[in-house]
Amino acid sequence: MIAVSACLMGIPCRYDGKAKYSPQIIGKLKDKEIIAICPEVLGGLPVPRKPVEIMNGTGSQVLRGEKKVYDKEGKDLTSFFLKGARLTLQLLQIHEVKMACLKENSPSCGVNYVYDGKFRNQKLKGSGITSSMLVSNGIDVFSEYEIARIR
Ligand code: SF4
Repeated sequence: MIAVSACLMGIPCRYDGKAKYSPQIIGKLKDKEIIAICPEVLGGLPVPRKPVEIMNGTGSQVLRGEKKVYDKEGKDLTSFFLKGARLTLQLLQIHEVKMACLKENSPSCGVNYVYDGKFRNQKLKGSGITSSMLVSNGIDVFSEYEIARIR
C-alpha cells in the first residue's frame, strides 16, 4: 500500500479549495493499493483555509519546537500541523504503509522544498512537517516529481 497526498488524487482539499490532480501519478499507481491522506484536514483545518507557510524553517525544525507555522494573517497554526502529522503517521502505521508520494512545496507534504514563510513565492530546501515525521519513522517519502521511485 502507498500513501498519496489527497490533492494529487483529485480531492479538493487544498487551502484554495482546489485539487492538484496528477494523471501521471494515477496512471503509475493503477495497480497499487492507495491510501489518500491530507494531513492539514486530518489536523482539523477547514477547506478552504488561508495560505500557510513555515516561518523561515523546515518541517524537522517545527517538530523539534524550533520553528512555527503561520497563516498569511499571522495566526499561529503550528498545533494543527503537528496534530495532522501525528495522525497521518498513526494511520500509516495502522495500515503498515512503508511508502508515501506527497505534494512538493507544501508546509505539510513538501518533500524537498517548502516556502520560506514570507508569502513571496520563495522556497527553502527542506521538507514539510508531515514528510519529516514520516521519514524519521522509516517511511520512504518522495514527491510527485519522483514517481520513478514507486515500486
Ligand atoms: S496537506 Fe498535503 S494533501 Fe492536504 S492539501 Fe496540502 S499538499 Fe495536499
